[in-house]
Amino acid sequence: MSRIYNFSAGPAILPEPVLEQAAHEMLDWQGTGMSVMEMSHRGKAFVSIAEQAQADLIELLAIPDGYQVLFLQGGATAQFAAVPFNLLGDHQSADYINTGSWSKKAIAEARQYGDVNVVAEGANTDPMAIPPQSEWKTNANAAYFHYCANETITGVEFPYIPDTGDVPLVSDMSSTFLSRPLDVSKFGVIYAGAQKNFGPAGLTVVIVRDDLLARASEQTPSVWHYQRQAQADSMLNTPASYSWYIAGLVFQWLKREGGLAVMAERNERKATKLYAAIDQSEFYRNPVVPEARSWMNVPFVLADDQLDATFLAEASNAGLETLKGHRSVGGMRASIYNAMPESGVDALVEFMADFEQRNG
Ligand code: PMP
Repeated sequence: MSRIYNFSAGPAILPEPVLEQAAHEMLDWQGTGMSVMEMSHRGKAFVSIAEQAQADLIELLAIPDGYQVLFLQGGATAQFAAVPFNLLGDHQSADYINTGSWSKKAIAEARQYGDVNVVAEGANTDPMAIPPQSEWKTNANAAYFHYCANETITGVEFPYIPDTGDVPLVSDMSSTFLSRPLDVSKFGVIYAGAQKNFGPAGLTVVIVRDDLLARASEQTPSVWHYQRQAQADSMLNTPASYSWYIAGLVFQWLKREGGLAVMAERNERKATKLYAAIDQSEFYRNPVVPEARSWMNVPFVLADDQLDATFLAEASNAGLETLKGHRSVGGMRASIYNAMPESGVDALVEFMADFEQRNG
């Protein structure tokens, strides 16, 4: 068996010990004689898996009392609609900041259900940046304020949590969730698809503050109705049970590794190394201002895009896979989630230097 370094943005690399444990438990989960995939979601065994995963996540993020933690389906894209359905209530509109492609998609979806006030646009500058909060045209009566904490495609990440006063803060954290400690008490809603930093596709974690549960519109589909799902322990219908189980194994792995403070240290170190390699060279370039650079997704372009195909082919020969940038921006992108070992970043940096030497 040989494993590559997988820099995919998602579905993405998972910790090897998690995959090994899942393989070990595949045919017979802890003496039940069944795979987790084959279990009734209402049975004792799966309910214990689900509850443990939830408890471990609460512990990892130190989620305070007064929040519900939901394990839903439909991806972050479903949440683009679920958020306005659940939170608009009697309000006229919601505030959104546009910092890139995923913000834009969230905005377009929300516009189908209510009025959206875009407080600022940060996606069109070169280098890309997050407009300072002093320039945001916010509405004090907004139903909520939505931002994408980390734009997976362009690698623009908020280095701070916006202060929105009494307006509930909502964040799409899909590609940065669990990359570092987080003060959950600052948020009304946090959502994240699992397939980047904590599991297989098909599962979305939603963390909702209790006082927001009563706002849902009557048209809210039941599967995305936060209050109904909370009352049903996220099992209003059949959940993504296997993905939930794997996410639980990832949470246990994170705890064994020392928790999110340790992850933050590692992630910062990995990202710093890669950005330093890019900045030191005349051959590679990252299009984001240093203070808004993502720890998780590092896009870069080569000075000569004619070399892109050769770069990717040679990287692949060196065991460095899925480095092609998103089709909308081109170039390269290295996603370096929690499960990417530092040795993977070292191997990439070494390959980049060698490639530059031969082609620069
Ligand atoms: N938001 C962000 C930040 C993402 O990176 C993605 C997936 N790439 C999405 C939303 C959409 O997620 P999903 O495909 O799970 O609906």
